Amino acid sequence: MEKIWLSLAKMSGKEEAYIREAFETNWVTPLGPNVDGFESDINSWLTHQGCPDAHVTALASGTSAIHLALVMLNIGRGDEVICQSFTFAASANPICYVGATPVFVDSEPGTWNIDPDLLEEAIVDRKKKTGKLPRAIIAVHLYGTPACMNRITEIARRYEIPLIEDAAEAMGSIYDGKPCGTIGDYGIFSFNGNKMITTSGGGALISHNKADADKAKFYATQAREPFPYYQHEKIGYNYRMSNISAGIGRGQMHILDSHIARRRVNHNLYVEKFKDIAGITVKEPQGDATMLPNYWLTCIEIDNTIAGTTRDELSAKLAAANIESRPLWKPMHMQPVFAEAPAYTNGTSEKAFEQGLCLPSGPVVTDDDIDYIINTIKK
Ligand SMILES: *Cc1c(COP(=O)(O)O)cnc(C)c1O
Repeated sequence: MEKIWLSLAKMSGKEEAYIREAFETNWVTPLGPNVDGFESDINSWLTHQGCPDAHVTALASGTSAIHLALVMLNIGRGDEVICQSFTFAASANPICYVGATPVFVDSEPGTWNIDPDLLEEAIVDRKKKTGKLPRAIIAVHLYGTPACMNRITEIARRYEIPLIEDAAEAMGSIYDGKPCGTIGDYGIFSFNGNKMITTSGGGALISHNKADADKAKFYATQAREPFPYYQHEKIGYNYRMSNISAGIGRGQMHILDSHIARRRVNHNLYVEKFKDIAGITVKEPQGDATMLPNYWLTCIEIDNTIAGTTRDELSAKLAAANIESRPLWKPMHMQPVFAEAPAYTNGTSEKAFEQGLCLPSGPVVTDDDIDYIINTIKK
């Protein structure tokens, strides 16, 4: 039997045609028609999802998109940036790239995303301790579950702090009628191999006016000034997506909606089938508004006192049956590399990390795979 992977990419079959076209027209360099085409495909898709004013800049990765957002906000040494603690390190690392200090804020139990009350507490306390407000807030839609954006946006506006929305895992998730990634001042997507769609590595920055999109392109292409020769007045980056990667992305846009639909089907099957397993519950997010997560990964929580098994034992059992599973992200405030960073915690992410496990959720997972996973757990 073939291994059941956590989140395997699946091609539409149309990717190769876009790549071939790039070869045939000699556009094998960075930039070219596929990059423009991919940006415009995402733009039309976001319009269809409910955001008509998104400006999309295709970049080398989701991480570089977060980095550029911080650069564009002119954040640097001596500044603090608030970041959701319960996330992948890529949300927080760019804060250090610009020389700023991350301040971690814990999650609320409903969505596992940044706790609005604790966020405000942190803002007030940083101001008291440093005399300055944090320069940005990075909120994450973890596992594709929308954060409580109405409250977070209200707090960010009230304190006039720019909001960066890390939607790396949340392409296709809808919050209060709006697509995730388009709600904050800046949003980012990731097209890494295990995300909703892949370009074999890539990302995008979402902004809300042409000036911002132009600025992102400027910084992403070595900050080259408009002169006939190479003139530089700012430090730039080599962060633009290549025309080949964008070709894969264009092919992937054909199956994005069906992949989102399949992940939702997977989630619903898990919810149904875990109902009669004592001590193990599927995480069913509760937000502060209507929302439709993309269910990038379905997560379960294991109460070992009832289930009679721990997270690690269960994971080992699945591995022995050729099923990939993975613990939830280890919170940033627990990471040795961020030991010195200020953190505002409430126990939510630590408990989820201790008990949680991500199950195979990708578009290639079948109904039969899920039956096999459930039977393995029940054994
Ligand atoms: C994957 C991911 C990123 C980084 O995206 P890359 O394209 O891999 O650089 C950032 N934040 C979160 C929450 C992610 O899951």
